[in-house]
Order: sequence, then structure tokens, then C-alpha cells
Amino acid sequence: MKLIDIITGPRPSLSFEVFPPKTWDTYESIKTATEEIASLHPSYMSVTYGAGGGTSQHTISIAANIQDKFNVPTIAHLTCISSSRTQVKEQLMKLKEAGITNILALRGDMPKDMTTKSLDYKYASQLIEDILEVGDFCIGGACYPEGHPESGTWMNDVKYLKEKVDAGCQFLTTQMFFDNNILYNFMYRIREAGINVPVVAGIMPVTNAAQLNRIRTISGNSLPQRFIRIADRFGDNPEAMKQAGIAYATEQVIDLLANGINAVHIYSMNKPEVARAIQANLSEII
Ligand code: FAD
Repeated sequence: MKLIDIITGPRPSLSFEVFPPKTWDTYESIKTATEEIASLHPSYMSVTYGAGGGTSQHTISIAANIQDKFNVPTIAHLTCISSSRTQVKEQLMKLKEAGITNILALRGDMPKDMTTKSLDYKYASQLIEDILEVGDFCIGGACYPEGHPESGTWMNDVKYLKEKVDAGCQFLTTQMFFDNNILYNFMYRIREAGINVPVVAGIMPVTNAAQLNRIRTISGNSLPQRFIRIADRFGDNPEAMKQAGIAYATEQVIDLLANGINAVHIYSMNKPEVARAIQANLSEII
């Protein structure tokens, strides 16, 4: 099933993201976690992709397993920063064979242990053009309510986002954000610029201190005081932090839905208990 039909459907959508195993020895445990999440029957699930390409096969097998066993539609992420055009075409053929019709087309970031950039791809928009040549895929792309770190200015960020959408990106999924006003401002800016595709809000339930520290150090996310207070108070208590993180994410989702954002994607990080709790919190709402 094409995701665009789910995202633009009459009912709000709630979807979950999982990541594939990096090594064979974790394959079974991660597969089991993704199956537990799939058994909740979300609107769809996304499966991420390692820009180094090492987990490329696992992205497809995890996504295909979810679709085949649970009848939950999936979207496979695909990056291009470290791939040749031939490698991308091969991957697209494998996706087709596996019956995966939705692709999140991404540039990716250069893995630390790799230095050779792709000679064929600089931006996700070029990947989108190649995907369109290979088949009838529903194509999504990433967007950044706080701006992508390399864009320089807001104007550039929106200009290149529009180029990506014009290249054939049918919907956008946002980077995580912790203050909904940031998304509402972003929506205003992109609609003004003529970007009219649906936007799926990406929400990250922050459920442990390590995750929190990572977000604090590497991301450009503006963290609201309310969020920082919760993290400072409960960060050292794993169970309390988990409960508070799930409650915070749930509140964000309710506010988004109340303000007309109809598609929400939860960065559930292979944690079935987090996905289950958020779904239960929204049981009468979605
Ligand atoms: P692009 O859209 O190509 O943009 C990258 C930068 O280039 C931006 O600053 C943009 O403004 C600029 N730009 C675009 N076009 C031009 C142009 N013509 N001239 C000059 N500048 C230009 N990474 C993974 O490795 N695997 C994943 O599975 C994954 N999933 C993700 C899912 C979501 C929802 C999000 C938000 C991100 C994900 N990422 C993933 C991270 C992503 O790969 C990085 O953020 C990467 O740095 C940018 O990818 P992009 O597709 O947004 O790039």
C-alpha cells in the first residue's frame, strides 16, 4: 500500500520507526522487537538504513518481514551519500522484488569510517530522480523544522526543500523536535514557499539519560525549559524517565492532532514497550 494514501486518509495516522541490526548476532533479537511493534498494527512502520550500506540487506528483510507477517505497510529508508548509481539501482530492484513500494529517500551522512563520497550523488533530490526512473514507488523525504545544520540560512533550507519536493518527493517526515511551536512556524514558512505536500511529524520519546545526553550534545534541537526540567529531575531514575518521556511525547502528539497535524511518526527505537504505551495513551484519540 502507498503511504501517501494512509497519510492523507480520513483518519489520523500513528506510525513507528525501527532500525535494522548492524550485525548478524543481533539480528534475531532486533527482528523480535520489530515484530512486537508490528503486532500493535500501527498505520505503518519505517525501517532505517545505514549510510555505509552495511545494513542494506537487513533493512529490506526487516521491512519485508513486517509486511508479510503482520500486514503492516512499511517504508524502507534509502541513503545515497556513499553509494554509486549502480548500487542504488541494485537496491531498488531488491526493494521491488520484496514488495516494498514506499521509500524514504535520503542523502545520509558520511559514516565516520568512510572517506570516499559518492561521485554520483550529492543530495537526496538526485536520488529521488533515480528512484522515479526505476519504478512506481511512493517517495518521502526528510525535513528539518529547526533547519538542516548544513543549510546555512532558513531561505536556503526552504529553497532546497522545495527543489526536493519538486523532484518528486510526495511527503515529508520531520526531524524530531520538542516544542510544537517550532513545527507550526516551519509549516507556515514552507506553505508560504509553495511546499504543499503532507508533513508527518516525527516525535522522539526520550526515555533514558543516554538518549538525552546525545540529543543535548549532537543535535541542534532547542530544548524547552519544561523538557529540561523533566530530564534534570528524572534523568537518573530509568523507570521515572521512561514514564515522563512517554507522557511528554504523548502530550506533544495530542497537541499536534488538535492543531491539524494528522500524521505522527514515533521514533520508537526498537522499544516495543514505548510504542505500546504511546498507542495505549492515544487509544480514544487515534
Ligand atoms: P538533503 O535533502 O540532500 O539535504 C542535505 C543538505 O544539503 C541540506 O542542508 C540541504 O539544504 C542541502 N541541499 C540540498 N540540495 C542542495 C543544493 N542543490 N545545493 C546546495 N545545498 C543543497 N540517515 C541515515 O543514514 N539513515 C536513515 O535511515 C535516516 N533516516 C532519517 C529519517 C528522517 C525522518 C530524518 C529527518 C533524517 C534521517 N536521516 C537518516 C538523517 C539524514 O540522512 C541526514 O540528516 C542528512 O544529513 C541529510 O539528509 P537529507 O536527505 O535530508 O539531505
